[in-house]
Amino acid sequence: MELHQKTIHEVSADLKAKKLSSVELTKAVMDHLEKVEPKVQAFITITRDEAFKQAAEADKRLATGKDITALTGVPVGIKDLLCTKGVRTTCGSRMLENFVPPYNATVVEKLYSVGAVSVGKTNMDEYAMGSSTETSFYKKTKNPWNLNCVPGGSSGGSAACVSADQAFASLGSDTGGSIRQPAALCGIVGLKPTYGRVSRYGLIAFASSLDQIGPFGKDVEDCAIMMQVISGHDSKDSTSADIPVPDYLGEMRKSVKGLKVGIPKEFFPDGLNKEVSEAVKKAIEELKKQGAEIHEVSLPASPYALAVYYVLAPSEASSNLARYDGVRYGLRVPGENIMEMYSKTRAAGFGPEVKRRIMLGTYALSSGYYDAYYLKALKVRRLIKQDYDKAFEKVDVIATPTAPNPAFRFGEKTGDPLTMYLEDIFTVSINITGLPGLSVPCGMSKTELPIGLQLIGKAFDEATLLRTAYAYEQATEWHKQKPSLKEA
Ligand code: GLN
Repeated sequence: MELHQKTIHEVSADLKAKKLSSVELTKAVMDHLEKVEPKVQAFITITRDEAFKQAAEADKRLATGKDITALTGVPVGIKDLLCTKGVRTTCGSRMLENFVPPYNATVVEKLYSVGAVSVGKTNMDEYAMGSSTETSFYKKTKNPWNLNCVPGGSSGGSAACVSADQAFASLGSDTGGSIRQPAALCGIVGLKPTYGRVSRYGLIAFASSLDQIGPFGKDVEDCAIMMQVISGHDSKDSTSADIPVPDYLGEMRKSVKGLKVGIPKEFFPDGLNKEVSEAVKKAIEELKKQGAEIHEVSLPASPYALAVYYVLAPSEASSNLARYDGVRYGLRVPGENIMEMYSKTRAAGFGPEVKRRIMLGTYALSSGYYDAYYLKALKVRRLIKQDYDKAFEKVDVIATPTAPNPAFRFGEKTGDPLTMYLEDIFTVSINITGLPGLSVPCGMSKTELPIGLQLIGKAFDEATLLRTAYAYEQATEWHKQKPSLKEA
């Protein structure tokens, strides 16, 4: 196996033992990254020079033997909506084409503080709005398993770069599924933490009550390593929770014997893709074989989740995106007067999906419609939360498909926004409720496209998700398969 194909837990022992230097490792990854990037198109900005500087620093730290973690000297990718000091951060939008933040997001700061190396900023749907990364102003990221298919979204670049071994792990963000769905479509592991578990300081906001930052890894253990570093309270984010962070790696290794796994019938509707439902059911069988108890649970408000999400997320977005007015930062298109400058700037800076969301959200919040849409959505949000609370009185973890289908082809869903929104059907309720969710590879379609199993946990119980996924992963080979990087 080549160096860039390994996992973090495989290379970190060699780094610690000084059998391998971070500069050597970074060179192996960077060379491979640049070689396959014309095919994958996972990055908006590649930070080659900075990466080698960080690697040299990491080697100095490794030489002292002090303050070393599994991530010291390890190359990772960062979604291009996380602020990176001195490195352009575009959010996939023309609006921020020339935005260079003067500070690091807390999660970036945390990765740097343990000596991780950033290889660059990954492609994404514009302002994280989308499920295929096709709304990016910059490029179309390809699915490494079939270059004619989308990688999922909105963190498509972060998922594709890990799947294609261009980085050992990466950071993404998840507002309605943007970590879990691309993880499923690219055959890797992705975790959306509980709302409040990870600081959002320095994350360019889409929908502030739903956004969470989380990791992508080649396997469960690498995700646990990333989670250990990025989790925890931050005084710079008032919604971040002051709750102790467990030892994820230790917890992950515990058995699933006696664990109660809930299966919600609402997530296995008639007409669900056969390959997806079979793969997920087989995965549940495997957990049963290992001693988990399987229980049916009901989440009756689930059919409303997508409607609730597509009122709340655009409403919050319309408010968050009001700041891009050409005055403070970002694009400015001059006009005859200030109103004309505002509208020319926003007309030129935002793409069609972002404009659609701003219009939907502004409408839902406008007087006369506020009660009928926004307030109603908030009420149904509460009902959805109550369903989960009730289910979690009976079970420890809930298992469902991550996405309704394996990866689809470019252009297949761009014509009709509603078919694209349906892609989020199994993921949005986890953001609506703030609960943690993880996607782990659980199968392959006949056309060799990966399928993901979604595990949903109690609030702040990421440890049980990692434990369940790790137990499953140990019994399977899906995470060891490598994508073809071919068109099919
Ligand atoms: N696909 C969903 C949307 O378009 C979720 C995006 C996300 O999680 N950032 O809003």
